[in-house]
Amino acid sequence: MVNERDTQYLLLTPGPLTTTRTVRESMMQEYSTWDVDYNGIVQSIRTRLVELATSDAANPDTHTAVLMPGSGTFTVESVVGSVIPSDGKLLVLNNGAYGARITTIARMLRVDTVELGQAEIEPTDLGQVEQMLAGDPEITHVAMVHCETTTGMLNPVEAVGEIVRRLGRVFILDAMSSFGGIPMSMELTGAHYLISSANKCIQGVPGFGFVVADRAKLEATEGWSRSHSLDLFDQWHEMETNGGKWRFTSPTHVVSAFARALDELKDEGGIEARHTRYVANQKTMVKGMRALGFRTLLGDDLQSPIITSFYYPDSAEFEFQKFYDALKSRGFVIYPGKVSHAQCFRIGSIGDVQPEDMTGLVGRISEVIDELGVRF
Ligand SMILES: *Cc1c(COP(=O)(O)O)cnc(C)c1O
Repeated sequence: MVNERDTQYLLLTPGPLTTTRTVRESMMQEYSTWDVDYNGIVQSIRTRLVELATSDAANPDTHTAVLMPGSGTFTVESVVGSVIPSDGKLLVLNNGAYGARITTIARMLRVDTVELGQAEIEPTDLGQVEQMLAGDPEITHVAMVHCETTTGMLNPVEAVGEIVRRLGRVFILDAMSSFGGIPMSMELTGAHYLISSANKCIQGVPGFGFVVADRAKLEATEGWSRSHSLDLFDQWHEMETNGGKWRFTSPTHVVSAFARALDELKDEGGIEARHTRYVANQKTMVKGMRALGFRTLLGDDLQSPIITSFYYPDSAEFEFQKFYDALKSRGFVIYPGKVSHAQCFRIGSIGDVQPEDMTGLVGRISEVIDELGVRF
């Protein structure tokens, strides 16, 4: 692990996040999109993603991976727009801004869409999921977010996946902010399509997203896409049949950094070890914040180790912008809130950060609230 700090501040944000110097240095190499060296890197990334996302390593042919340019949302849009046939119907389980975004994307693409909408602080209601699926045979696909980055809530993906599979539907999982940081597999989550991106828990830099897919399901989707640039099948087919080639100009530097980030994930001890570190980061941070008087939006039972929402202190002296700026000048960038009905800010615990960094952060926050005159 590289702890030598050579950046102006640590990003305690859920992407882009703090990366190692070695990940950033791997972008000094230049590659051609057409070159065999580069395409070999792409193929090795695809293979490693399938290995990370499946428990049945002995049988790698059941799953496959596709990389898609753009931020994570572009990959969500690519999946929603490409794997649901024109007569299909989507159920979105929505308890936060990222769930809502899936619905927005689906409706703009004219996908027949229904939603199970819940409050942002409520976990997915399993009974209602089962009822909606049993009551509406037209629903062909179900989409949900694993870690709702809006609040930091971890949704019960395995229980939902079990219901979706038992009732014979296709399951699309937005595991954007959790894949690589929380142990999971296609088998245990029941996902047919698992979506994540380069700049979250794998600790690469932003520029592309990826999908690990059930191979048979993806192979059946040829010609279904509602977009050319975001055609998931076409992108996959090009990579699969042309040795890792992208259809259009690919983000070569980002891909190079991502390959390095995958090496570093392995060196750290894999996803289990990274999860342990993120849990330690999050627990250290929350313990310190609670000792100062801050309250978390969610109870510990619903909370992920990825990002935590804190209520603003109930004090006229607290102004988020001043708080943010004072922390930034002390070397820490935090995240504004995104919850609709409460005044919150968020602190991420992912990236190349350690529990000691969290202790340092809490120390600086203590100074800043004193300086601002905030009382709890
Ligand atoms: C980060 C994130 C996304 C994608 O966001 P982009 O800004 O497009 O990269 C989607 N879903 C979840 C849950 C996320 O955390």
